[in-house]
Amino acid sequence: LEPALDDSFNQLLEWADAARTMKVRANADTPQDAKCARRFGAQGIGLCRTEHMFFDDERLPAMREMIFADRAEDRRIALDRLLPMQRGDFTTLFRIMDGYPVTIRLFDPPLHEFLPHDREGMRELAESLDLPLSDVVRRVEALTEYNPMLGMRGVRLGITVPEIYEMQARAIFEAAVEVGRSGQGVVPEIMIPLVSAMREVELVRHRIEGIAAAVRAETRAEFTYRLGVMVETPRAALRAGDIAEHCAFLSFGTNDLTQMTYGLSRDDAARFMGSYVGQGVYAEDPFHILDQEGVGELVLIGAQRARTRNGAITVAMCGEHAGNPESIAFCQRAGLDYVSCSAFRVPVARLAAAQEAILSRLTESVRDDSDLAAGTSFGSHRSHGA
Ligand code: PEP
Ligand code: MG
Repeated sequence: LEPALDDSFNQLLEWADAARTMKVRANADTPQDAKCARRFGAQGIGLCRTEHMFFDDERLPAMREMIFADRAEDRRIALDRLLPMQRGDFTTLFRIMDGYPVTIRLFDPPLHEFLPHDREGMRELAESLDLPLSDVVRRVEALTEYNPMLGMRGVRLGITVPEIYEMQARAIFEAAVEVGRSGQGVVPEIMIPLVSAMREVELVRHRIEGIAAAVRAETRAEFTYRLGVMVETPRAALRAGDIAEHCAFLSFGTNDLTQMTYGLSRDDAARFMGSYVGQGVYAEDPFHILDQEGVGELVLIGAQRARTRNGAITVAMCGEHAGNPESIAFCQRAGLDYVSCSAFRVPVARLAAAQEAILSRLTESVRDDSDLAAGTSFGSHRSHGA
């Protein structure tokens, strides 16, 4: 059965939509997710994680060939085999989303995740690539890091192995042209993960602009796109002003941002969180409910610095917190443009954003009323001003 909302709940959600100012998008990277997002009223895809697309049997061999290639030219040849599939991924998502924005997050994970780590797997890989086993072992060792989540992933990988982002950008633009030619509107958004320095954005932006120019020349088609940055490191939040000058949107990735702010592994924290919360060290598990004092402060600082330098910038949140009502209320108060959460949480996010918008308006009007009352009894300073 396909998930659907009943009529009276839909009516409630429509009232909520009329009350809220912040938009709600969904995190989606498969056609099923995207359809579900639309059914639940998402106003676009705010995070399409692309790495999951490379693990299936059809794509993994080309991915591994790319990893083992020493020259950029050979990496491009391997990636060219993935290009039509990746273009197809985006064409499908653009069609389903039918003109709603689709934010595609460029490849994020470390490359070792695509390699086998046991002897048997390495032997099989050596055979399939026609390489000595020792070469495979050496490459796996070279890619193995002590702290992969803090290592060669996200934009660092994108800069070190630029052919991956180039292939993805080409797939996005070619898909936009294809969908545009069939008369559907599409403005793809390309998002760079794990940024910590403005220069990273400049370097990736330069390459993406080059690919856009090439695709325009080859296809003789016009298309627009928006480039954005994920704010997932404390440094990116602090340098958001500089970063904002080079992009159209920022999206806080609060899973990594929480991990980096606390210096606490998002994959292991659950082991002791019960005891930490139980003893009052943390009021809540910061990976479930946005820590408004630490991570939230970075969100406020980042949003304010970004907007000061780029008044037109869009500011959003797409970590898991964006689906939690308390955290959504925080985002609404912080004036974020949208939150993006798992499709199943979209209805709750629509309600939570509306509730907070209504509460803020009520609080404001109560404040105005009491100001007025104070003004009448004691004489208003404002009435004597210039
Ligand atoms: C995040 O870090 O908050 C995020 C959305 O990205 P991911 O969970 O894929 O690391
Ligand atoms: Mg992340």
